[in-house]
Amino acid sequence: MGDAARTILHVDLDAFFAAVEQRDDPSLRGKPVIVGGSARRGVVAACSYEARTFGVHSAMPMAIALRLCPRAIVVRHHMARYAEASRAFFAILGDFAPVAEALSFDEAFLDVTGSERLLGDGPTIGRAIKARVRDELRLVASVGVAPNKFVAKIASDIDKPDGLRVVPADGILAFLHPLPVSRLWGVGEVTCDRLRALGLRTIGDVARYPEAALRGKLGDVTGAHLAALARGEDARAVEEGQAPVTIGHRETFEDDHDDPRDLEVVLLHQADRVAARLRAADLRAGAVVLIVKYDDFRQITRRTALPDPTTDGQVLARAALELLGHVEIADRPGRRVRLVGLSATALEPRAAPRQLTLDEPRRARGERLGAVLDEVHARFGDAALRRAIHVRPDDDDDGNDGGG
Ligand SMILES: [Mg+2]
Repeated sequence: MGDAARTILHVDLDAFFAAVEQRDDPSLRGKPVIVGGSARRGVVAACSYEARTFGVHSAMPMAIALRLCPRAIVVRHHMARYAEASRAFFAILGDFAPVAEALSFDEAFLDVTGSERLLGDGPTIGRAIKARVRDELRLVASVGVAPNKFVAKIASDIDKPDGLRVVPADGILAFLHPLPVSRLWGVGEVTCDRLRALGLRTIGDVARYPEAALRGKLGDVTGAHLAALARGEDARAVEEGQAPVTIGHRETFEDDHDDPRDLEVVLLHQADRVAARLRAADLRAGAVVLIVKYDDFRQITRRTALPDPTTDGQVLARAALELLGHVEIADRPGRRVRLVGLSATALEPRAAPRQLTLDEPRRARGERLGAVLDEVHARFGDAALRRAIHVRPDDDDDGNDGGG
């Protein structure tokens, strides 16, 4: 993408789940509201701005949230209402741009570059979207307007709630440079620590640091990526995407396979990729589907529900391997396999309420590991690190094939 000026909007509903609850029950308005399951064992799915001032945030265990804010009103979630509001929200966005890229149920990028002659400039469109969200949904949207996605996303967040921040092309650096490095897209805790160790605290610090040195310290890919962002450059296009129904991977083989162990390795890779895409979309999976196509083109699918919705590739992998164990595979016509696929389905927002399980620490480790994997993949590419499961987690048999 060259220098052609674009106008990108990032539109994000404020405190979405909690705002729907406050909208539908006037007695909750102006009060600290927490959306979650059980008050004793659940986690915070969402909370109103009144609750946030006490330090409550989503994904926090409910017990801690109630210690911080004892007067909070805990309400049960109403997923059907959120889904309905989300549909109406995307219908509004569709009136302003041909392409809306959904990031989650309440958040999207719009490229309005081609709409401006008809609908007005970016800020005008942003104001119009906010007005329609307020009038038709009785919810509040924050909007960022900028020449690219990276800046638009930060801009929508910076004046929340009820924000409208416009960052023109010649104002990008003044806007970005005072912000902390954690605002850079793709920078998680690990990279953040490394930048701090170099004495780089703000995006401006990164911009002033020689790019060659940054590449030397962080690797070519990450160094170049962060240097470009710090200069306010992000060429990613807004791409069509609705909140997905399933996320999956499938692979057709050049040769048919008749050994389940070969297929297991493929499924393990697929599980990790699917899990990364779930996390990128802020979704988690409630079920796993295994797809097997035989050499006679007969296709079967097997589905299993997960006891606890997850973004953990290891959990997805185990479910898929379990399903594979019940599929007939053999070295004869009609039983050799030419394609396997793994899909995550029964998707729900990663922030949706869930019950704590007995195995909470293990679950938390799985989710954290996923976040670290995402960051390593972003920095070094796919081949850099493969989860240890690829070297067979439960080596309960002769174990002389060392995995992927
Ligand atoms: Mg939101």
